[in-house]
Amino acid sequence: MYAREGFYAIVEGVRKLEGLSASRGIAIGPVFCFPDEDTAEISRYPINGEAVDAEWSLFDTALETSRREITLLLDDRNREQSEILNAHLLMLSDPEFIPRIKRDLETRLLNVEAVLQDAVEESSGILRSTGDAYLAERAVDIEDAFGRVMSHVAALRHGTQGKGLKRSSTTTFIPPGTILVARNLKPSQALSLKDSGISGIILEEGGATSHVAILARSWRIPAVMGVRSFASQVEDGQTVILDADNGLVIVSPTTGQLSAYRVQSAAPGESGKEKETRIRAPSVTRDGARMVLRANIALAAEAEDAIAEGAEGVGLFRSEFLFMGSLNLPDEETQLASYLEAARLLKDTPLVIRTLDAGGDKMIGEQLSLTEKNPLLGWRAIRFCLDRRELFSAQLRAILRASAEGDVRIMFPMISNVEELDAALDVLEEAKNECERRGQAYNRRIKTGIMIETPAAAVCADLLAKKADFMSIGTNDLIQYTMACDRENTLVAHLYDGFNPAVLRMIQKTIDAGTQTHTDVSMCGEMAGDAASVFLLMGMGLRNFSMASSRISAVKELIRRASLADAVECAEAAMELSAAREIRKLVQERLKTYE
Ligand code: PEP
Ligand code: MG
Repeated sequence: MYAREGFYAIVEGVRKLEGLSASRGIAIGPVFCFPDEDTAEISRYPINGEAVDAEWSLFDTALETSRREITLLLDDRNREQSEILNAHLLMLSDPEFIPRIKRDLETRLLNVEAVLQDAVEESSGILRSTGDAYLAERAVDIEDAFGRVMSHVAALRHGTQGKGLKRSSTTTFIPPGTILVARNLKPSQALSLKDSGISGIILEEGGATSHVAILARSWRIPAVMGVRSFASQVEDGQTVILDADNGLVIVSPTTGQLSAYRVQSAAPGESGKEKETRIRAPSVTRDGARMVLRANIALAAEAEDAIAEGAEGVGLFRSEFLFMGSLNLPDEETQLASYLEAARLLKDTPLVIRTLDAGGDKMIGEQLSLTEKNPLLGWRAIRFCLDRRELFSAQLRAILRASAEGDVRIMFPMISNVEELDAALDVLEEAKNECERRGQAYNRRIKTGIMIETPAAAVCADLLAKKADFMSIGTNDLIQYTMACDRENTLVAHLYDGFNPAVLRMIQKTIDAGTQTHTDVSMCGEMAGDAASVFLLMGMGLRNFSMASSRISAVKELIRRASLADAVECAEAAMELSAAREIRKLVQERLKTYE
């Protein structure tokens, strides 16, 4: 599932398109094409007098961010570009234009995007109507300079990066019951889909370990990714069958196909008693080896689903989703409430809270206005937190305080050397002291671990393990960094494969380091939710797996059918092979003997 298994070659009368299965299930219904931010209009709506100050402050912050951004850009530009940027800087401080936005907000009572768009159109229209080529160019500059501001307004309002004088797609109403079609979605946009009532997702880009795919799996919304140029092949309202079990999309299906899929999707589910038996069944192999299965969650309330699926706790709480999609970053008390909600739902089972993994494709706050050349290699996760100590300390205090009410554990993401871990542990020590000073209870023996998601961490896992209570292998990033291939880029999806010998060696090294240093090792990347991978990983020595709740049942079923002795033999043979394809074939053949 984390590799290319969703690709199917289909030739039949009706139009069937192939993609990558990202979240299983079947959906039938009309499509709704989500506007691409590159082509969308801006939204306009009336506001009341009390909202004027908030709209102005949004504009003012966006203006300031734009000025700072241009000043940074000016440092390393050539002369011609500097002239343009300087002109933009002057426009963003224009003594007539800027106060006019405030006045228009007060008199017209419209949202700031609408007011700004009208003002820009009016000014540039006047310049163009002179017929003077020089002034017409200044019109372009005005649009450009304030396009940047508009983009920051959208980013601040929705926690996304908007583009130019356009509508942000985050404001779009999505009709419930439709299958959403988009080029791609940012995690912050995907967050708003949870309660939207959509029945499926089809994306032209993205991979099975993109954060949209991860959320779709968590929320059990069938999803297929990487269906190239799909949006241009359908119209709003057109009926499609989304067969995410097989990575397929059928456009304008025949009545025969519709009824066959309807029968399939309406097949009676299991009875309450059957579900109870499935959930209570222990995760033990035929020859008695016990595995621990935990759940990955993005929102506290998902802990309920984890319990309902029989998870033995949460192995990964992606805390950054609490920070996304809102204008103000959550304070210590807001975070505490969320962590406590999850801890209480989980009772005494573990709750591993990963500290803020912002950056990369999950930008928050000031990161939104950055233009990093390689965000995935940039100022993200622990790197960002160590530079923003107040934010980091507040999160650590919230986690510590929640640990008074459950088996809460702390996990640092994207660690790439021992110094980073030392620095994070220092901040944690200060946070503990602060809790003591305030008289706030916390678990003094709280377990603290790290994610192994960079090759640097995997190779030095023995050094890191000496300072950590546990290590959790994040294969989503580990594959991407080991194979030097973006986890969302469909063009290089053939390289993104956890069965690649290089990746398996990184994993084996981490497992061995855990054994040598008596440090618990688990896996919370999507590979841990793929039954065939779990078979191989058991054989490599792994015993603890954390996955989307929706995957627990399938993984448990595999474990109960398998024998550890077989898995060990298979893993030993696999480690001798030189290609992912050969390893997959070997594992699949072994698994066939269990059917
Ligand atoms: C991972 O990288 O495997 C992981 C679990 O973290 P995320 O998917 O949130 O990057
Ligand atoms: Mg990761």
